[in-house]
Amino acid sequence: MDDKHTLMDLYRRSVLQHSRTPHNFGRLDAADLKAEGHNPLCGDKLTVYLRLDGNDILDISFEGVGCAISLASASMMTEAVKGKALSTAQSEANDIIGNFARPDARWNGDRLGELAALGGVREYPSRIKCAVLPWKTLCAAISKTEQTVSTE
Ligand code: ZN
Repeated sequence: MDDKHTLMDLYRRSVLQHSRTPHNFGRLDAADLKAEGHNPLCGDKLTVYLRLDGNDILDISFEGVGCAISLASASMMTEAVKGKALSTAQSEANDIIGNFARPDARWNGDRLGELAALGGVREYPSRIKCAVLPWKTLCAAISKTEQTVSTE
């Protein structure tokens, strides 16, 4: 198998699994930070909630409606950044958003872990905004942006 096939297998498995049973789905009461995001092209609408311990993410969750790709991306995001410092989560989000913006980006499994599976979304360019939405919403929550984030 070449790299592309491995990535696509990982992508299908992860997206299917996370979209069927999203991790950390639901509202977080007494959230310290939250933000809303909307992808009008697809109709995805998510809210991301964070509870903090100092500058660390004690807990994170999301709720909303969306397609399988947006839900899976949000689910994987919450798993990836839970327990990390806000600044680390912010730079990871910037990495992922940057990768989606570059068609030739390398989705390195050693560095990104399961998140590398999201690179498979590049095979479906019209769905990249679905995958990016949760990460942009996370950035908005961290930077205390009150306006709803839009992928447009
Ligand atoms: Zn979508």
